[in-house]
Amino acid sequence: MTQQEMWDAVKNNDINYDGLFFYAVKTTGIFCRPSCKSKLPKRENICFFKTAEEAKAAGFRPCKRCRSDLLDYEPMRDIAKEVRKKIDAAATEPESAELDAIGLSSRRMCDIFKKEYGMTPKEYADSLRLHAAKEMLAGTEHKVIDTAYSTGFSNLSAFNRFFKKQTGLTPSEYRRSFHSAAPRTTQISTKYLVNTRDVK
Ligand SMILES: [Zn+2]
Repeated sequence: MTQQEMWDAVKNNDINYDGLFFYAVKTTGIFCRPSCKSKLPKRENICFFKTAEEAKAAGFRPCKRCRSDLLDYEPMRDIAKEVRKKIDAAATEPESAELDAIGLSSRRMCDIFKKEYGMTPKEYADSLRLHAAKEMLAGTEHKVIDTAYSTGFSNLSAFNRFFKKQTGLTPSEYRRSFHSAAPRTTQISTKYLVNTRDVK
């Protein structure tokens, strides 16, 4: 890693470099993670260290803001969790504006999320929507279009396409596969009820 690359990371508060190096500010005596949001120091006032220990050994104090002293501080994992919480709440991928607030590109956020959960945010959101849709189709009498709306689709054809791609069945076919089994069960139990009544 060149000094220029590290300096660029510091300028951009690039979280991808956290853990790879630390920078210390000679004028304040404090060392930070690359992603630290504190005011950008002048280039000539900083020096770089590979580890927090080295920075401390050189007489610098850890920054209270980015907690450059905490080895188990895992900003990436926290980000993945935060994104997952947003998806859990909304059952869709986070908007790019929300990602901007976290300070990540959507591509970078995808990588972090995938590393943590083994799927992209979109795949995760899709799995939640699919699960909700299946439950509604199999377990309720709601119309397919209402299922589409309540699982976050703005129209039926988008929902149909999504559902078929995920399951190989259209929503109606999926529902029928459950309901085709239902009448027989109903018949049997009705017959049984009638018989018992007859016996009495
Ligand atoms: Zn800091």
